[in-house]
Amino acid sequence: MWIDTHCHLDASEFLGDSLAVADAAVDKGVTGIVIPSVHKNNFDHVANLAQQRNTCFFALGIHPMYVPTSDEKDLTLLRKTVASLMDDEQRGQRFVAIGEIGLDYFVPALTQSPLREKQEFFYTEQLKIARDFGLPVLLHVRRSQDMILKHLRRIKVVGGIAHAFNGSAQQAGHFIDLGFKLGFGGAMTYTRALQIRRLATDLPLDVIVLETDAPDIPPSWDSRGINRPAELPRIGTVLAELRQRDLSEIAIGTSNNAKAVLPRMNG
Ligand code: ZN
Repeated sequence: MWIDTHCHLDASEFLGDSLAVADAAVDKGVTGIVIPSVHKNNFDHVANLAQQRNTCFFALGIHPMYVPTSDEKDLTLLRKTVASLMDDEQRGQRFVAIGEIGLDYFVPALTQSPLREKQEFFYTEQLKIARDFGLPVLLHVRRSQDMILKHLRRIKVVGGIAHAFNGSAQQAGHFIDLGFKLGFGGAMTYTRALQIRRLATDLPLDVIVLETDAPDIPPSWDSRGINRPAELPRIGTVLAELRQRDLSEIAIGTSNNAKAVLPRMNG
């Protein structure tokens, strides 16, 4: 059993074949796939995918890179949608988190006024939604570790996942203290990713979750340039090799961590 805690299964790269992509992952031993949304336009899509496979779960949120094309009323829609899912045992069953949300200070246009402030507003308003409903968050953190942490200390959410973690050991410690797990995936498969590999080796296993971020961050062996959730077990093999542990220990450990931080996956 393996859990892919971050997979954009609805992405256009999968050419409408998302369910087949999910099924191919199941054949490789992936028993859970978490599909975050990025914009109000894909809220329904990710929810519908999750309804169609009992291995799939979804999260709702507005990604920082989609903040420029989002409107304040989309936050109201998000809050309303979350409220109705939390009230609906049937439709809400596969809904596990608020995400993907965060701050991106890598894309130059997003770091300048007024988009810098707009990003921060969307991030903090979505943290408040997570806090108000007791939901974990899936965080996009790019060159923004300290600002992300500053708001997490102020707006107390139950925890979540710092997805595609790429910070320092000290920053990792701050996330862990706030109840977060750290997501490791394709980046860890590149021998030049020294800091990520060192963290994946040295951090306690109980703070690590695995992810593909498919179709992004293809692992080192991928030649198609399109990552898929079926790659997750092989990514897990890299983690097992780095830590010199049995594969089953890594599979069970990281899956338990995912279910601990996303408790709604337990049904
Ligand atoms: Zn993502």
